[in-house]
Amino acid sequence: MTAMQVLIIDDSRAIRLLIAECVVSMGHVVVHAESGEEALEYIKQQAVDLILIDIHMPGMNGFETTKAIRTLKADDWFPIIFISTQVDDASYACGIKAGGDAYLEKPINPLRLQMQITAMERIYTMRKKLQAAQIGLIKLNDTLKYLSMFDQLTGLANRRNFDDTLRREFKLAQREKIPLSLLMCDIDFFKRYNDKEGHIAGDDCLSTVASAIESASNRPTDLACRYGGEEFAIILPKTDLSGAKDIAKKINLALQKRKTPHPDSPVSAYVTLSIGTASYSGQFEYPSELTHAADKALYRAKENGRNRIESTS
Ligand code: GH3
Ligand code: MG
Ligand code: MG
Repeated sequence: MTAMQVLIIDDSRAIRLLIAECVVSMGHVVVHAESGEEALEYIKQQAVDLILIDIHMPGMNGFETTKAIRTLKADDWFPIIFISTQVDDASYACGIKAGGDAYLEKPINPLRLQMQITAMERIYTMRKKLQAAQIGLIKLNDTLKYLSMFDQLTGLANRRNFDDTLRREFKLAQREKIPLSLLMCDIDFFKRYNDKEGHIAGDDCLSTVASAIESASNRPTDLACRYGGEEFAIILPKTDLSGAKDIAKKINLALQKRKTPHPDSPVSAYVTLSIGTASYSGQFEYPSELTHAADKALYRAKENGRNRIESTS
């Protein structure tokens, strides 16, 4: 069992020392506070695992201090044990209602104090374990969410993310009567690249192309996606066709700068892209029509010799 940080709050130094002796002999670490106010200041800065608290103190009494601690640490819990000469039913009820978990009588019975700490420690440890498991689950959930939305190889949005985003942005463009553009990019002669350089180099090449694509658009609403194998798409909200062409040019420029050799390409010494651009400005009813238009433009870019940009309005 790991040592707990135990805060003892009592205005009497002699009693604090007596309690501390019991606690330290159990292997825990003790911190002293001689008033409720001092304890609150301490708790604001430092973590504690258990509190032993007196009721009668000058300034804030034990009940008030406990209420203040529970308010301060509303999202957390650690055991608070009252130790008091005041053991009537009303005081007991007051202590538990204020946020205390147990109530011991003064003068202190060391065995009872230690056993009460042991019982609270059990609950506290179990709660910590549950919290750790919960944090693990939250992290796992985040990872799963990430994996369901992003492509692992390139880090770009995946196809599912593309479909969801395009649907949403298309609706918005329709409602707000604003343009929406789409670029479809396909690596030229990528099969030859793979055949010549190997699949691992092929994967590296996909990452390089993805980084060039990502670097070209900089609005937070733009979304670069891996559409499939060696095809990429960029959704450009609030962007007209001329803006989309500018982004396409920037992508090609960014890829040229990366100078990735493609010895088997008939169109360039380096890896190149064919890009199709299309823009919605009220003429389509469904997002699939925009995808189709960008696809058609891409097909024309391939037909017309690759390593170029074509567009459909
Ligand atoms: P084009 O210029 O007409 O686009 O020719 P292409 O060779 O690029 O097109 P094709 O569709 O014939 O071949 C695409 C190749 O992309 C085939 C496949 O081996 C490769 N590819 C698809 N996904 C991946 C991947 O995740 N990693 C690697 N290394 N290669 C991939
Ligand atoms: Mg392809
Ligand atoms: Mg290709």
